Amino acid sequence: MARRFKDDTLVIASHNAGKVREIAELLRPYVPAFRSAAEARLPEPEETGTTFRANAELKALAAARGSGHVALADDSGLVVPALGGDPGIYSARWAGPSKDFGMAMEHVHARLAPGADPGAHFVCALTLAWPDGHVETVEGKVHGVLVWPPRGDRGFGYDPMFQPEGSAETFGEMDPDAKHRISHRADAFRQLVERCFR
Ligand code: IMP
Repeated sequence: MARRFKDDTLVIASHNAGKVREIAELLRPYVPAFRSAAEARLPEPEETGTTFRANAELKALAAARGSGHVALADDSGLVVPALGGDPGIYSARWAGPSKDFGMAMEHVHARLAPGADPGAHFVCALTLAWPDGHVETVEGKVHGVLVWPPRGDRGFGYDPMFQPEGSAETFGEMDPDAKHRISHRADAFRQLVERCFR
């Protein structure tokens, strides 16, 4: 049986203000009050896990234990099976300190041998952690193919080179609302709400 959220405060374990706002909007119907990791003065733990799930869990647990409140954390990235799963949990790191995703996309493209399977998926692991160490984790996905050259200037990260199944547009070309309906993050939030918030 999954543990359900019954508290009055949820800590969002992210230092990215945009992400905190987006998560708060999605969960507002179920959560009386939100606190960001910055407001709770929580340090950012190192992402030492080897899976999306492990990284989401270590960030959520550190925030729950550090704040004394239930905490939510995520970890996401692009998985390319023909590259052995890369960039995977290293998706942000492939863009370097300057967050150059043009370079990161070039990197993905250059490593993919001609004729290799262009299949790819985005993953989003979401963990809700309690101060006593209990965790609930879900994993959302969206499948598609990599295209080259990248197309579109909407979205972020690897969006311009990812064309989801059933669409003629890349995430970089797509209307943001359309992306948000089918994305790995949307899938993960639907699962988490079903499991812990309804
Ligand atoms: P995180 O914020 O540490 O989970 O890092 C996620 C990284 O994965 C981002 O920096 C992006 O490179 C990539 N990523 C995750 N979700 C998306 C998406 O929806 N579109 C494009 N890139 C994404």
